[in-house]
Amino acid sequence: MIWKIRELLRRLSLPLAGAIISSMRIQLLPLLLCSCVPLIAQAQVREFVSLNTRQIEALDRSKTVVIVPGGILEEHGPYLPAGSDGIFNQRLANDLAAFIASRPGWTALMLPSVPLGAGGANEMGAKYSFPGSCTVLPATLRSIFMDLADQLGRQGFRWILVVHGHGDPIHNQMLDQASDYFHDTYGGEMVHLFGYVWAASKDFRTPEERKKDGQAEHATMTETSVILALKPEWVASDYKSAKPYAGPNLDELERIAKEKQWPGYFGDPALANESLGMKIYGQWLAQSEGLVTQILAGKDYRKMPRYGDLTSGDPADIAAAKENARLEAQHAAWLQNHPLIPSH
Ligand SMILES: [Zn+2]
Repeated sequence: MIWKIRELLRRLSLPLAGAIISSMRIQLLPLLLCSCVPLIAQAQVREFVSLNTRQIEALDRSKTVVIVPGGILEEHGPYLPAGSDGIFNQRLANDLAAFIASRPGWTALMLPSVPLGAGGANEMGAKYSFPGSCTVLPATLRSIFMDLADQLGRQGFRWILVVHGHGDPIHNQMLDQASDYFHDTYGGEMVHLFGYVWAASKDFRTPEERKKDGQAEHATMTETSVILALKPEWVASDYKSAKPYAGPNLDELERIAKEKQWPGYFGDPALANESLGMKIYGQWLAQSEGLVTQILAGKDYRKMPRYGDLTSGDPADIAAAKENARLEAQHAAWLQNHPLIPSH
């Protein structure tokens, strides 16, 4: 599914964020009509796609946080949508934008969602094609974010928040590398937020639920609850009769995912409920707000544990890396045999 970005922004905007944005617009209207009044001191949420060159140049780089939400097109089984990760990413991006704009003098500059991520959960069963998964190679993902780092860095932006949560370790490591590249090359901070948030998240399931739902890897009770809380109309209502595919650890989940009839999810989604989803989302938001506050005050977040590094290296990831290398070689061989023909 390709995100319809405007529709997504419209639908996912929190009433609070929407109210802040519209009240800013009302406050700013007289100012916009009078170009002699500087806009720099106004705290606000701005949408990158709506701004012209003068408006972008006028942003105070030292007090503007660029927010880049992400989403992966990834199968989530028969009950959750392929854009599930983009749902919680966009919601968190919107809430953080409102949080940043509530700081006096600060502006949140929202980019449209980058709807591409690496490493679908279907790779856990060595299934490199699955209905709903349209992923990009890890190196492609890293290039997209390094390219954005160059463009934003050259324009003088100092603060970038990447809100692109997706559980695959290599996806996270690629975003961490792009963020380190921005830091080392342009001297600013580009934070892959979920990498730190997930490394420190708590499990809110009861011991009984944990036993039934197993490791909370992909489209389990946990993730189904989050989507139920944030976008219930996109959850198939028969999730309540979903058959469990639970396993206590990664080895067992990878064995389950290799089964011919594996439907693309793990755990026991039938146990999902909105209140657990809100609790989990509330934890991510609180952690993110705390981290953003500390980073803007100068904290060196880069020494904190990173989810991608903590979870990398399992057998399915090693097998997927081989498949990715095969595709890269296939692309290179095709390109070598099909060079561009100069027009003159
Ligand atoms: Zn997901």
